Amino acid sequence: MNEDVFRKIHKVIIAGSGPAGLTAAIYAARADLEPILLEGQQPGGQLTITTEVENFPGFSDAIMGPELVDSMRRQAERFGTAILPRDIVSVDLSERPFRLKLDGGQTLRTHTLIVATGARARLLGIPSERALMGHGVSACATCDGFFFRGKKVLVVGGGDSAVEEANFLTKFASSVTIVHRRDALRASKIMQAHAQENPKIDFMWNSTITEFLGVEEKKLRAVKVQDTVTGEVREEACDGVFIAIGHVPNTGFLGGQLKLDPSGNIIVNDPRTETSVEGVFAAGDVADKIYRQAITAAGTGCRAAIDVERYLSHKKEEITRLEQEFAAQTM
Ligand code: NAP
Repeated sequence: MNEDVFRKIHKVIIAGSGPAGLTAAIYAARADLEPILLEGQQPGGQLTITTEVENFPGFSDAIMGPELVDSMRRQAERFGTAILPRDIVSVDLSERPFRLKLDGGQTLRTHTLIVATGARARLLGIPSERALMGHGVSACATCDGFFFRGKKVLVVGGGDSAVEEANFLTKFASSVTIVHRRDALRASKIMQAHAQENPKIDFMWNSTITEFLGVEEKKLRAVKVQDTVTGEVREEACDGVFIAIGHVPNTGFLGGQLKLDPSGNIIVNDPRTETSVEGVFAAGDVADKIYRQAITAAGTGCRAAIDVERYLSHKKEEITRLEQEFAAQTM
């Protein structure tokens, strides 16, 4: 890596390399902001763990998630984005320029920051779950439901997401069973009513999945289910399992310096992408608990880059002064 990146103040640094971060990079690079993009721990984000993406406009024959994100990456690089295979460990947003400490120990300085670090689906964390992700196990019904036409699927969870995903999946699946660890749903009454009225949905109460079967064949064929009251374990044949037990926004590195809502998402001044700290913007799933789609993430990434460009042009004098002070200190 060229060490010069640590000896200057950047106009914009983008944290995260999913569709939000990469779209922000494409727009920022084309606006001559010379963006630096930090890839983070999962380069490409959640798209890299999906298979075919059939709902991203412009790809009438579908495209594989990793291929889509790779194409965005090349597009961002073509306009001059510097993509660093690094992660941010901590930030100091209390002074200007902002300081970002990286996993290698070095510090980057920047006038603005776009946080596009996404969210990760909360998973059960049991053996075989990772191995069968994309091979029968999924955390996104909107992305993968279509592949389960005429199949038997299970949905894990008892909140609005689980019920919404179950309802959505009945468009394709022959039967949908909601597997919940208690005997009552957490979902809102109206969502529960929809699920209870749907003849394709049934419920498996007081149950948790303890193992996914089919790892050797690389195709899910059944699960082991434990009764949380009796402790009894049995096998349940199925073609697909959708985990819908919530999402976890990736905000740990911010150390509480940006305001978050009760679900842990960064609060933005919607429809703008400004956060509670001037000069810091957020885009994609890290600031979205409703839509969480690749296309909506890309859209907010575009908005964040445009917001940064306008912010920098309003702050021209302050930025010139900061750069002069920094040059004097480092001479
Ligand atoms: P949630 O409300 O936090 O529900 C998570 C569910 O997963 C709970 O039923 C929980 O069980 C279960 N769970 C958590 N960890 C588990 C584990 N390790 N093993 C088994 N089960 C586990 O999350 P959500 O459903 O994603 O909803 C998040 C927010 O988005 C909520 O505010 C919701 O209202 C909102 N939302 C709204 C809509 C809508 O209005 N259309 C749609 C989706 C989401 P317990 O019940 O036992 O805790």
